[in-house]
Amino acid sequence: MIVLKFGGTSVRNAEWINRVLDIAHAELPRSPLLVSSAMAGVTDDLLSMASSAAQGRGEDALQLLESMRQRHIQTCSELLDRHESATHSALEQLISDVRHLIQGISLVRECTPRTQDAVVSFGERLSTLLIAAGGEARGIQVRLFDSREFVRTDDQFTNATCLLEPTYRLIREGITPHPHTLLIAQGFIGATADGVTSTLGRGGSDFSATIFGAALQAEEVQIWTDVDGILTADPRIVSIARQVEVLSYPEAAELAFFGAKVVHPFTIQPAVERGIPVTVRNTGRPEQAGTRIQAASEVHGVRALATRKGITVITIHSSRMLNAYGFLSRIFAVFERYRISVDLVATSEVSVSMTVDNAVNLGPAIGELENYGSVQVETHQAILSLVGRNLWRDPSFVTRVFTSLADVPLRMISLGSSDINLSLVMSESSVDTAMRTLHGEFFE
Ligand code: ASP
Ligand code: MG
Repeated sequence: MIVLKFGGTSVRNAEWINRVLDIAHAELPRSPLLVSSAMAGVTDDLLSMASSAAQGRGEDALQLLESMRQRHIQTCSELLDRHESATHSALEQLISDVRHLIQGISLVRECTPRTQDAVVSFGERLSTLLIAAGGEARGIQVRLFDSREFVRTDDQFTNATCLLEPTYRLIREGITPHPHTLLIAQGFIGATADGVTSTLGRGGSDFSATIFGAALQAEEVQIWTDVDGILTADPRIVSIARQVEVLSYPEAAELAFFGAKVVHPFTIQPAVERGIPVTVRNTGRPEQAGTRIQAASEVHGVRALATRKGITVITIHSSRMLNAYGFLSRIFAVFERYRISVDLVATSEVSVSMTVDNAVNLGPAIGELENYGSVQVETHQAILSLVGRNLWRDPSFVTRVFTSLADVPLRMISLGSSDINLSLVMSESSVDTAMRTLHGEFFE
């Protein structure tokens, strides 16, 4: 079987839902389960309705609900050539349930996280109803499931944790994929053991998809979105950046740190743990193969470049470090107390340099660090990373990097012990040029 997950932009209107159904149709022989997000913008709208109602602006909320209703009804009419009353009345029923919730929130002027989840869950319930109806209208055999019967969570509403063991069992017991039947389920939503609706946090549909995939031992989970996959570099900096065909899971996780956030590594973990490949595809360009993320990749060398700006480098010089133990742990304790996350570290006998990317709380933390030595702070720095496999195996790799960047002053260098990431710290003003230079060296 195969899991096809579609994000909100992929189901934003009837035209796009039809593309989604084209893709699903082509995959029917592989026993697909389609997992969908709410139509683009709908989750945000539902959240804003809930908060307007809680603040006593119930009329605003109901007005927004009315435009959401129109949008779904319009999409429904465009998808179904004839007026199909069963789907229309199911739609109206869901909208009227939202209306009651909004009215309740208006009355008590309070929206608890639990009530908020009840409200936002309708986004995915509405979108999947439309996709299912659209599929049936094409003569596809469709089965629409309610994910709340399968995805079991704790009661941390708005950001619930999925309880994987019962969830896998419920999915295996209740869902049997079949060739030529399109199974459909909602992303993002689940329920507690008591049957109370919960959600997995914003963007949670990818996680839903890999949970279903893991439970049903999918041969592949496809995440359909609005980009071609993961690129060799930031296309705003390197206009000829192209898509990376295969990445290992650790490589994808390294890149995610740099905001190449096509998929968040955490959300694909259930699939990766079972060796199920996750492919990122573009719904607007299904002819593109996208990027495949799998447990391990056989490809050696640099796969992609990534940068992160707004970095601060903190260097502490101290002769007390010489032959002393516990020095670094005292320094890191300061960062821990101020909840500042340190990313790269480089040490010598008399100094330690670290990068941090969040300047909040930095002032007081630096005040404390001054107890340990003289502290130098450089802002407006950037990290440029080369991510790939067995980077050191090719003896010319380092030479190529440093020769091509001969003119760029580097502040710090760090090679992760896993040998998949060489990170260079430099000033923000030189990083774009450096990225273009390295892209030219390794990809063009
Ligand atoms: N609809 C939810 C959101 O917008 C979940 C998702 O799209 O993944 O956050
Ligand atoms: Mg979304």
